[in-house]
Amino acid sequence: MGATLEELPGRLGDLGGLPIRRLLPRRARRLVGPWCFLDSFGPARFASGKAMDVAPHPHIGLQTVSWLLEGEVLHHDSLGLDGLAREGVVNLMTAGRGIAHAEETPPVSSGRLRGVQLWIALPSGSREVAPDFLSFEAPRLELPGVRVTVLAGEMGGVRARGRVFSPLVGADVATAAGPPAALPLEPAFEHALVPLAGDVRLGDRALEVDALYYLGAGRREVVLTSEGPSRVLLLGGEPLGETVLMWWNFVARTSDEIEEARADWEAGRRFGEVAAYPGTRLSAPPFVVSRRPD
Ligand code: MN
Repeated sequence: MGATLEELPGRLGDLGGLPIRRLLPRRARRLVGPWCFLDSFGPARFASGKAMDVAPHPHIGLQTVSWLLEGEVLHHDSLGLDGLAREGVVNLMTAGRGIAHAEETPPVSSGRLRGVQLWIALPSGSREVAPDFLSFEAPRLELPGVRVTVLAGEMGGVRARGRVFSPLVGADVATAAGPPAALPLEPAFEHALVPLAGDVRLGDRALEVDALYYLGAGRREVVLTSEGPSRVLLLGGEPLGETVLMWWNFVARTSDEIEEARADWEAGRRFGEVAAYPGTRLSAPPFVVSRRPD
């Protein structure tokens, strides 16, 4: 019996002028464990200005994980906290019942940008937690042939800082030329791989950069082979077991919750202001109940 392996190419999109490849959610795959959103962006090179400039906007019901292979993104939020995501440093934001934030290229930058933004859906019992933000150096785990950087949750006994609300892992796997390298997986989790750079194979299969490979649950390991340096994002988690409703920047369960969050943002309630951002905040698009997330 063959193990599950579904390839989902990224869909091109745009984040405030920055081209992105959206990998989650897709029609064919909405969740990997609690991971419900994944955009990949760059590599971009710029001589001046801001490669990323996302004005203040609200979130509910999720955590965001920002991870950069190159460049810098500065976060400011309505709690008055800030953090610079850069190579090796994760920005983890917990929206819970509501937070607003802005993300932008800092005034002084390397002129490069390559990274991912991920969302984790909060399970029902934790959706109303207090908002929070943490910027931290991601811990590493050295395995034969691979260097694993743990961005969220735990892998191989190495746990990232920051609270998560269901069992999960998010990791950046760096491979080098050499014999096949085995990554231990938690069989109760469903997993996915997203190659971010270089050439890598899963068994005999060559994997495409910026495609999502859904691996299902029940695997105890994956074996990666590469003939040079590569970077692969590994996502996993216990299946959430809930149907989430995603609209704009909100992760909810009912359209009433989304309409209320939208109305609160538009009225200046609940989320607070991102005082550190100099420009105008984003307005919510019109809410159409029949709209299906894409
Ligand atoms: Mn955001």
